Amino acid sequence: MRSAPLASRVLVLNSGSSSLKYQLLDMRDSTRLATGLVERIGEQTSRLKHTCLVSGRTHELNGPIADHDAALKAAGEELVKDGLGLDSPELAAIGHRVVHGGMFFTEPTLVDDAVLTEIERLIPIAPLHNPANLTGIRTAQALRPDLPQVAVFDTAFHTTMPESASRYAIDVKIADRHRVRRYGFHGTSHAYVSRATAQLLGKAPSEVNVIVLHLGNGASASAVRGGRCVDTSMGLTPLEGLVMGTRSGDLDPAVIFHLQRVGGMSMDEIDTLLNKGSGLFGLCGDNDMREIRRRIDEGDEEAQLAFDIYIHRLKKYIGAYYAVLGRVDAVAFTAGVGENASPVREAALSGLEELGLVVDSELNAVRGDGPRLISPEHARVAVAVVPTDEELEIATQTYALVGKNSRVNS
Ligand code: AMP
Repeated sequence: MRSAPLASRVLVLNSGSSSLKYQLLDMRDSTRLATGLVERIGEQTSRLKHTCLVSGRTHELNGPIADHDAALKAAGEELVKDGLGLDSPELAAIGHRVVHGGMFFTEPTLVDDAVLTEIERLIPIAPLHNPANLTGIRTAQALRPDLPQVAVFDTAFHTTMPESASRYAIDVKIADRHRVRRYGFHGTSHAYVSRATAQLLGKAPSEVNVIVLHLGNGASASAVRGGRCVDTSMGLTPLEGLVMGTRSGDLDPAVIFHLQRVGGMSMDEIDTLLNKGSGLFGLCGDNDMREIRRRIDEGDEEAQLAFDIYIHRLKKYIGAYYAVLGRVDAVAFTAGVGENASPVREAALSGLEELGLVVDSELNAVRGDGPRLISPEHARVAVAVVPTDEELEIATQTYALVGKNSRVNS
């Protein structure tokens, strides 16, 4: 007996503590059918912004949206107006971004009660993200209990890191008891961009070594050997590594003791300082690279120093990952800053010609939508700008898992 054709739509949900981002994709050709964002959930001033990419219809709704359940229902109503209702038999699955999967989740995973329990068990090491992600899954389950729900973890791509890269040099027993190790984040983006970079070079992912620089408001670097992550800059939490919009990235842990003992700050205050009041924002009062570049153009020294510190750290990671990989075929820039800020790309690689890293100024200045090379034609190492697409990657992984399961079961 032939099985029924697989429904081809996937809804991707990215739930934050007070926001819900959604995209509906048709996986026959990976096209986006609709996208939307609900912000300030639980406040009087909630806002839903919805765009149907089939008809071009956009809609904005302002007013209180009490919780994630109401947010998903409001999004569902907008989708109904576009003839894309979530009760459609065309919907194959719902894919969820889950930030922390610990060491347990190495792949996209079909959600069941045991999976929910494990995601919940990880809350102590991801207190800001996993509770919101769980809420999103439970809300979607309530809406379509019959549909497969798939969790796609930000940490999964990094579970291939060797112990030498994923352990901190602290007492092993204490580390293991409290699950303290380097997990890494932005994995969905690093996976997508490293693969897309290989494709841009006309090679299989297994043939190339890539340094991926995901530079958004959060930022992380990864070293990818033959399609597998061997090191990444974020650690137990997304605080470690590069200088970010508002996060400090690497610092001497003794800074924390000092601020507490000598500065009289509480742990919560230090946590907030390092996560929300540091990075570019802490250095110069702005976390948007556009504004920082504008200030630099006007001769602002504070903005220039913030930029220089950002670039210095970035360059150190490029050098470190070059050493980790031994041979580098490509360096790929992605996310808001990486895709748009040509001065960041130029400055990060300047002076690295001896390593085969050269940026062609003209190519670097050209703006474009798709993946592109910005290194000269015969450069030893390709330098690429590769727009990330985490939603497409979540949808692709979700659809592949659902397809595999339906083949197994048919
Ligand atoms: P993301 O987290 O990937 O959405 O990136 C957001 C950040 O990208 C913003 O905070 C800006 O710093 C940066 N960004 C976005 N557009 C531009 C642009 N055209 N030029 C420079 N930086 C940009």
